[in-house]
Amino acid sequence: MTASARPNILVSNDDGIHAPGLTALAAALEKLGEVYVVAPDRERSAVGHALTLHRPLRVDPLGPRRFAVNGTPTDCVNLAILGILPVRPDVVVSGINNGSNLGDDVTYSGTVSAAMEGSLLGVPAVAVSLVDASATADYRPAARTAVEVTRLLLRDRPSGVTLVNVNVPRGAPRGIRMTRLGRRVYSEKVTEERDPRGKVYYWIGAGPPAWEAGEDTDFAAVHAGYVSVTPLHLDLTSYDGLRVLKPWESDGARRPARRRTRG
Ligand code: MN
Repeated sequence: MTASARPNILVSNDDGIHAPGLTALAAALEKLGEVYVVAPDRERSAVGHALTLHRPLRVDPLGPRRFAVNGTPTDCVNLAILGILPVRPDVVVSGINNGSNLGDDVTYSGTVSAAMEGSLLGVPAVAVSLVDASATADYRPAARTAVEVTRLLLRDRPSGVTLVNVNVPRGAPRGIRMTRLGRRVYSEKVTEERDPRGKVYYWIGAGPPAWEAGEDTDFAAVHAGYVSVTPLHLDLTSYDGLRVLKPWESDGARRPARRRTRG
C-alpha cells in the first residue's frame, strides 16, 4: 500500500455473508478503503480454526468484490488471500459477531479464527464482536469502533501486534480499554435431557457464562461499558513450561530416567 492509495480491506465473519453484523461492518469500512467481502454462505459460529481439506470449496460471486464460500471462516480468509482477491489485503477485519468473544472463548470462535488466519498469512487482522446477541442488536456503534481500531492499526503498524480482538458492549461505549483475556469459570455442568423417544442427549454451553474477577480483563471492560481491545499472538508456547520441562531432554547417548513399569 502506498501512502496515497486506499488500503484494501478483507472482511469476513462466522455468522454468514447475509448477517447484519457483516453488512454494517463492510459498509462502515468503505470510508477507510476498498472493501472485499469473502464470507461463509451460512452461519458457521464456534467452528474454531477449522480448515476444509477433504471436499471441494465453491465460491459464489454475489456482487462486486463480494463472495460467498461453502466453507469455514478460516477457509474464506485463506481462499481470499491465496486465491480469490486480485490484490493482497492490507488488513483483515472479521465480524461483527452476533455475541461476545471474550476470554477463553476465543479458542472456539470462528470470528477470531478468521482474523487469526489473516495474521498467520502475514496480514494484520481485527476481530470484532458485539456483546448484544439479540436479533434487534444495533451494530452501528460497533461498526464505528471497528473503523477506528482498523484506522489506528493501519496508521501506526504497532510492532508485534498482528491480531487484535475487539468486543463492543451494548449501547454507546464509554471509551476503549486495552485488556488481557479473562478466564471462564466452568460452574455449570452440561445439560442432560431425554428426547421424545427416551434417549439421553446433552446440550453444551446452555448456562449463563461466569468469569473470574480481574480489572484488566476483557470481560471486566465490556461489563463496565467500555470497548475491550486485546492484542493476541499465535505462539502458544508456554515459556514457563519450557523451562520446567528442560530436565526431560535427552539425546542418543543418555536416555531419560527409566520409568517404573511394575509395582
Ligand atoms: Mn458467530
